Amino acid sequence: MADQDVAERVRTLRELIQYHNYHYYVLDQPEISDREYDALMRELRELEEAHPELVTPDSPTQRVGAAPQPEFGKVEHARPMTSLIDAFSVAEVRAWLGRVRRLLPDEVTLDFVVEPKIDGLAVALTYIDGVLVRGATRGDGRVGEDVTLNLRTIPTIPLRIPAARPDATAAPDAPARIEVRGEVYLPIPAFAALNREQEEKGERTFANPRNAAAGSLRQLDPRITASRPLRFFAYAIGDIQGHTVATQWEALHYLQALGFPINPDIAHFSDFEQVIAFCQAWMQKRDTLNYEVDGVVIKINDFATQERLGIVGNAPRWAVAFKFPAREEITLLRDVGVNVGRTGMLTPYAILEPVDIGGVTVSQASLHNYDDVARKDIRIGDYVVVKRAGDVIPQVVQPIVSRRTGTERAVQPPTHCPACGEPTVRPEGEVAIYCVNASCPGRLVRQIEYFASQGGMDIEGFGSRLAEIFVGKGLLRNVADFYRLTYDDLIQLEGFDETRTRNLLQAIAASKERPLWRLIAALGIRNVGGTVAQTLAQHLRSLDALMNASAEELQEIEGIGPTIAESIVSFFQLPRNREVIEALRAAGVRLSEEPKPTTTAAPLADKTFVITGTLPSMSREAAKELIEAHGGRVVGSVSAKTDFLLVGDDPGGTKYNKARTLGVPMIGEDDLRRMIAQGPAANPAPTAS
Ligand code: NAD
Repeated sequence: MADQDVAERVRTLRELIQYHNYHYYVLDQPEISDREYDALMRELRELEEAHPELVTPDSPTQRVGAAPQPEFGKVEHARPMTSLIDAFSVAEVRAWLGRVRRLLPDEVTLDFVVEPKIDGLAVALTYIDGVLVRGATRGDGRVGEDVTLNLRTIPTIPLRIPAARPDATAAPDAPARIEVRGEVYLPIPAFAALNREQEEKGERTFANPRNAAAGSLRQLDPRITASRPLRFFAYAIGDIQGHTVATQWEALHYLQALGFPINPDIAHFSDFEQVIAFCQAWMQKRDTLNYEVDGVVIKINDFATQERLGIVGNAPRWAVAFKFPAREEITLLRDVGVNVGRTGMLTPYAILEPVDIGGVTVSQASLHNYDDVARKDIRIGDYVVVKRAGDVIPQVVQPIVSRRTGTERAVQPPTHCPACGEPTVRPEGEVAIYCVNASCPGRLVRQIEYFASQGGMDIEGFGSRLAEIFVGKGLLRNVADFYRLTYDDLIQLEGFDETRTRNLLQAIAASKERPLWRLIAALGIRNVGGTVAQTLAQHLRSLDALMNASAEELQEIEGIGPTIAESIVSFFQLPRNREVIEALRAAGVRLSEEPKPTTTAAPLADKTFVITGTLPSMSREAAKELIEAHGGRVVGSVSAKTDFLLVGDDPGGTKYNKARTLGVPMIGEDDLRRMIAQGPAANPAPTAS
């Protein structure tokens, strides 16, 4: 790039970043995702590194946040409130440590404090002679906004220190002056409740708990702040007089002794490998907390070493934020599709411009129901915030109203079922819209898929795609039709060769022997999931007993209330459903709970198995049932008492290595089947060693 073009690009980037800083820090309403913002920042930083003459003191790389807003009073910070250097991988964290070590003399030994990076906003609280006199936001890092009255409404921020502590241990005297820094945040359930409330009032909603916390704190009326359940964790001392503290670890415990809440998950390590392990463990833990954590902050413990390293640009060299994969993105809502559920419920789903969220490409997301879409005013053609957390299906959180061009279209609830064309129905008082056509092919596809799924009859290799094809071709008109499928039916289908055909027929045949509770769950009776089905099977022991039980009799079973009882009774009242049961009976599907063979004649009697890896034709759950049905036992870990390790693809290292060390024979799925077929004397040929 020519120098002139570089200067021009730098100018454009600064303008763009300043525009987004304003939306993020002042309006608390970002228009682009953090990933897109970080990419702009990285580009600017790289251009400035290559052309240091272009760096200006007001560049966003040199400052944080945005200037304080005129409606708030200004507070000058004793020391700058900075940002943090980001690391997006373990390699980047190690590179940070490498840079730190190069800047320090060899004899300096390092130890580290590791803290969760709470996703809220930073504040500075000043106490003089133990009294909270001022509270400020970070602002642009040098000057923040005076939000003292608002901060006073947060119950966990002490108005006086030392605060009374429940454990009544002696607290230190308050220092003459202290500036305490920490994060104000909004717990996730409170964020969800706040957004719901805002939607109901027709007011703007927030993209995430961080923006909601910032929007709640930066209010001109403290009563609004008081109505939002904000919380606080202290994590630093900005300035102190009348007491000395030498390390971050000491500082955190001193703050705690004064009565400030500190995060319970902080840790102190001198071994850097333990730091890395802690960061990785945290990523797993993230979904178990009721507040958002977007990373882990690693800080060098010793303050004198921190001083030596200093600050570069807008971030200290002595700390690094190991960022977790993103859980949220902003993308285009291209269209809204309609899903037909097995009960006939019609639900909208978002068809998105594909977007990478934390390493997974997302092209569809849940929109809950049509009321929700209307309340959030989500329109086709909007840019929307999409969230993907843990194993939960991605969700559309809200539209970015400020990015609208005027061409967006409202989402219309369907008047006719997209699968069968019948008019839809919205029962009185219900949010959901239904297709009530009992023979709707859309519903049937979902019923069939559910029947064959892992939580039901566990027919290996049969998923939603095949359900659509089989229903579309008229091969399956109800769930009992599975057991009428023939070799000729399957072999003519696209993608079905000899092996696949035989495997599927074998999997269907194997499903006839599933325990009763699986069949009960697979029928798709409303309100009857796996757990309820197990209770029913245990007490009633046969499908006939279940079919003939009255609502009163069912309610005598512990765990079965009137709603479940009613759904069961009305399910079996329908002649169509009884016909399906009869067809299942005729096909030889097991309809009762049989005692498990435990005699020594059972082929696997007294044998203990451990299962590892992915088996070729059945789930681990199915393998466990198969072993147990033939008298064997399945346990979770390998010991000297283990008779066989059943090994599939990608076996777990611990089980595999232990079995190897102890000389436990390793068998494959075929060996297992052979042992069952040939009886107890069969001697399996090990397939793995
Ligand atoms: P940062 O959030 O990456 O890190 C600094 C902040 O971490 C501190 O100010 C503090 O609030 C917080 N923090 C939480 N726990 C901490 C702890 N234990 N110790 C120290 N600090 C802790 O930096 P930043 O400068 O506030 O913001 C940058 C982030 O904001 C980036 O992720 C960026 O993508 C995002 N952003 C997005 C937009 C947008 O338009 N989407 C605009 C601006 C900024």
